[in-house]
Amino acid sequence: MSIPPSKSVLPESIDARKLVQREQTFDGILPLESLARLSSAVESVDGHICIQLQFGRNLQGHRVVSGKLQLTVDLLCQRCLKPVREHIEAEFGWGIVWTEEQGKALSKDLDPVIQDGDELDLYPILEDEILLNLPMVAYHQEECVSKESFRFGDETTAADEQQANPFKVLEQLKGSSGKS
Ligand SMILES: [Zn+2]
Repeated sequence: MSIPPSKSVLPESIDARKLVQREQTFDGILPLESLARLSSAVESVDGHICIQLQFGRNLQGHRVVSGKLQLTVDLLCQRCLKPVREHIEAEFGWGIVWTEEQGKALSKDLDPVIQDGDELDLYPILEDEILLNLPMVAYHQEECVSKESFRFGDETTAADEQQANPFKVLEQLKGSSGKS
């Protein structure tokens, strides 16, 4: 019944130095129109792409951002080629640096993000994080295509069946093509 508070659109470019100083937090959304790579990687995005960011310093004194992303996408089921809905949720940690050299000093749990100049383009980096968290392939959980109809389909979909007895399948293959 409660209406979620409306979220504002994240700024496209930021000065991480200032935001770290202010220990700024964001709880906003990313506009899909600005994310061409994501748009072409999915069938559609359902609802908002929600991003939370928190700027600050870690114990080593490095400028860091801890973030969280959340979105729902439709991907193509590789079995029936119809949309399958996936909810994506991930956390990430960045270390803001100005040179690659500085990036090497960061602890392993931080991904170095280089602010090359006064401002940092936020959208492409966030888009990278989303793309990293998309599943490589998507399938419906239920059996969306009957086994009969994809028996002669591509090999990956037949993998479940082969688990039962892989050698029998091999025998059959040999038997049917071994005459030539
Ligand atoms: Zn399917």
